[in-house]
Amino acid sequence: MTTDLLFHHIDELLTGGDQGVLYDASVAFAGGRVRWVGPSASAPVARQIVDCHGLVGLPGLVDCHTHALFAGSRAEEFQRRLAGASYTEILEAGGGILSTVKATRAADLERLRSLLHRRLEAMLAVGVTSVEVKTGYGLNPATEQRMLEAMISTGSPVEVLPTFLGAHAVPAEYRGRREDYVEQVIRQQLPRCAPLARFVDVYCDRGAFTLDEARAILEAGVAHGLIPRIHAEQVAHTGAAAMAAGLGATSADHLEQLDDAGVAAMARHGTVAVLLPGAMLYLKDPPPPVAALRAAGVPMAVSTDFNPGSSPVRDLWTCATLACLRMGLRVDEALLGITRNAGRALGRDDLGWIGPGSSADLVLLAPPPGEPAELAVLVQYLGGHRAHHLVKAGRWLIRDGVRQDALAAGAGGGE
Ligand SMILES: [Zn+2]
Repeated sequence: MTTDLLFHHIDELLTGGDQGVLYDASVAFAGGRVRWVGPSASAPVARQIVDCHGLVGLPGLVDCHTHALFAGSRAEEFQRRLAGASYTEILEAGGGILSTVKATRAADLERLRSLLHRRLEAMLAVGVTSVEVKTGYGLNPATEQRMLEAMISTGSPVEVLPTFLGAHAVPAEYRGRREDYVEQVIRQQLPRCAPLARFVDVYCDRGAFTLDEARAILEAGVAHGLIPRIHAEQVAHTGAAAMAAGLGATSADHLEQLDDAGVAAMARHGTVAVLLPGAMLYLKDPPPPVAALRAAGVPMAVSTDFNPGSSPVRDLWTCATLACLRMGLRVDEALLGITRNAGRALGRDDLGWIGPGSSADLVLLAPPPGEPAELAVLVQYLGGHRAHHLVKAGRWLIRDGVRQDALAAGAGGGE
């Protein structure tokens, strides 16, 4: 077998698949796909060889829960909260999510596209190759649709998986008329947005949408061909995680207040638990029941929840570390949380692992200066890691630390 491109002698490689973690490993690409992965000693012949001594490797990272498309700034609100203002006080003064809604409604398609593109570039720099992005700052049919149009036309090499989240908050013009707003989400927003999205999501919690409203919106989304997911059990226990699991949700996210019945329902339906340590840190929430999720065999993913209010954190590596420090994950769980299990949360069996049949996404990183090239070091240190080499769908995005214009990996030879 002759391959196009061989990443040779990777000190430690997380495959995310059956081969687990390999030492002195190699990955071979051919025709823009992963053709082979295994120990360097038995690597196939390749037209081009990249020596990876001193580097660690992982599948391209997957950030499976973000609100990365928004306009405006919430820095002033951050300072007010530090000074003691409550979330409710800020919301009643027109702040919080609704201030982001105001700014996002005022942004045209070109502006939204450019904002998201720049944020995706920052995420790509640390090794992220697939990002889920939610709507929910439009809260009317035209802006929700415009957000999705921006997501699917960024021109970024980072793969964007779009989620419709019209039920993120009740907009100011529907204040006191939540039922009418739910009706608008189902009858007007969904038909326009469903063709552009992959998932339907609802913020179901005390102070947000009720369990019955969430069920109605998710069922309507499923009828439009969308995959359900849910913001569940963050502020109060509502039963939303079990409800969504029963509807076939690929994930339930947040889960700080999840009970044993919710854990059992998620285990039964194979629903992924998406843990969001950034929001937990900023909102001073208690940790989710990680020990119970682990004991029940619920797959756990870790994501940034990147948003301008409760989690202004776009570095997935930082979240992997926080998930260990603040939630009790092990290092191996955190690593699978930002790769394989994040792909599962998105219902994508080809993302977050490396092997024949996976997407050809690979990141190689150097450890912090003076440290050994071990995966655990990248979780031990809090953030600040940059991709040394990055390949997405078989194309070079970063090579020797330099951003590339999507050249085919192994270009110059092969198919
Ligand atoms: Zn969220």
